[in-house]
Amino acid sequence: MPYDLVIRAGTVVDGSGLAGFTADIAVSGGRIAAIGRVRERGAREVDAHGLIVTPGFIDGHTHMDAQLNWDPLGTCSSWQGVTTTVMGNCGFTIAPVRRGAEALVVRNLERAEDISAAAMSEGINWRWERFADYLDVVDALPKGINYAANIGHSALRTWAMGERAFTEAASPDDLALMVDEVDCALKAGAIGFTTSRSYHHETSDDRPVASRLAEWSEIQRLVGVVGQHDGMFELAQERSSDPAERVEFFTRLQDLAVESGARVTFGVLPSGPRDIWHAQLDALDATAAAGGRMIGQSHSRGVSVLLSFETSLPFDRLPEWHEVRSRPLAEQKTLLSDPVVRARLVHAAHHGDYGRTIGAEAGKPDWTTLRIYQSPLPPNPTVAEVAAARGIDPVELMIDLALEKDFRQFFISSVGPENEDELLYVMKHPHTVMTFSDSGAHVGQIVDACIQTHLIAYWARERKQFSVEEAVRMVTLAPARAWGFHDRGLLRQGMMADINIIDLEALHTGMPATRRDIPGGAQRLIMKPEGMRATIVAGELLFENGEHSGALPGQLLRGGRSLQ
Ligand SMILES: [Zn+2]
Repeated sequence: MPYDLVIRAGTVVDGSGLAGFTADIAVSGGRIAAIGRVRERGAREVDAHGLIVTPGFIDGHTHMDAQLNWDPLGTCSSWQGVTTTVMGNCGFTIAPVRRGAEALVVRNLERAEDISAAAMSEGINWRWERFADYLDVVDALPKGINYAANIGHSALRTWAMGERAFTEAASPDDLALMVDEVDCALKAGAIGFTTSRSYHHETSDDRPVASRLAEWSEIQRLVGVVGQHDGMFELAQERSSDPAERVEFFTRLQDLAVESGARVTFGVLPSGPRDIWHAQLDALDATAAAGGRMIGQSHSRGVSVLLSFETSLPFDRLPEWHEVRSRPLAEQKTLLSDPVVRARLVHAAHHGDYGRTIGAEAGKPDWTTLRIYQSPLPPNPTVAEVAAARGIDPVELMIDLALEKDFRQFFISSVGPENEDELLYVMKHPHTVMTFSDSGAHVGQIVDACIQTHLIAYWARERKQFSVEEAVRMVTLAPARAWGFHDRGLLRQGMMADINIIDLEALHTGMPATRRDIPGGAQRLIMKPEGMRATIVAGELLFENGEHSGALPGQLLRGGRSLQ
């Protein structure tokens, strides 16, 4: 039997962006052995007639660091056809860490990425201190898909400085420790270094996360080390509304990219004023022209928070609502049906004090942009539209829909103004990669692990803004090239056999649902796609028609020579 696996007669959309073609794909020893008319049989045969066959999707921006410890399958990313994820973004990692000081590292992550501290203390077996030890643990953990790891500045700083990391600039000794640790981490296979300078990133006691205390000279020293290893530097940005400050920031960042040689990357979300994200795109062009590399991360859906009575609502901050919402759902049902209670809740929702929110935390809803999640493919109607059609108050409508759907009605609250043309504009920019999923973070409110599926199903198939081949390239070869995964992201002889088999006509992201499977019993949102017929990792079937095969073929992808 010459081949381990042969995928028969699919339409091969190989990741290059070139036209698809009908062919068989033979796999041997985890790699693609042949593409074309394969006459020999495989130990395993998969019929892909009428289906498209693509490389596994690659997600360059995730926060799977904590989840990897309790969820070997890497859901929801793996369900959605993602076979390689890059974790440790925005400065948040769970290594390095001093023994006994794990809580300090958790303090950085918990609010900024909305990952429960209880889950992290119950679900993580802290068996490492230095980053290199952590990589060995990740290597040994059972994994369905592949992971590459960045070392995060907040953890690094906290490891080097303890409590002072949250209040002080680094001393020369602190910096020397950090430089050495980044160097060791990249030698051991970290693929980059990440930080946050974003005011969105705070601890649960309203203080900046540790990386935000760093002076720019600290960043320059650390990124200099990254450049020596040809690594990646990712940052959650300072986003200033002052044009002069913006010019100063992007000049600094461009100089850093050119001088260090590190590849610099950050999210570009068209969610604020137009001149802010245009300045980000201009910086990508200017840096390329100056001889540096800078990659913007775009998003196919626009970051949006999912609200429901089953999970959380912005109203929950209000005392009148808290009183009702802190009860079991069955009791809430009775109360929400009571006209007196309803009137009180509606009044509070309109006139209450929502307090201060940051990042993806939801404040008072805007009914004209808050959408009722009815279909996996846009457009979905707004609360204001449907309330007007029914002739009732928007808050009453939300209560009615929740009662009609047994609390399972979700609402989509976009973070910042939603504008499809602007999303497209960013996705079509030549120096962006569509990869800003944040998968593994914000799991109670956001499920953007599906942005790759959404790009292909919605923007390519439905809206025809990209050919299917181009959309596949955007989530395979494009991120593989940007992050340096030289043997993935393309279906060619000799490449790793990370493969999706997709029923293109049936493909969509699926609808959100809840599942209580986080250590400590917390709830998260999940989303299972339709049309994803099979996912193969390193030549082994991982999922077939949504069912896990039992195999765990994922690997830690170490940077440096092993990726060349
Ligand atoms: Zn992030």
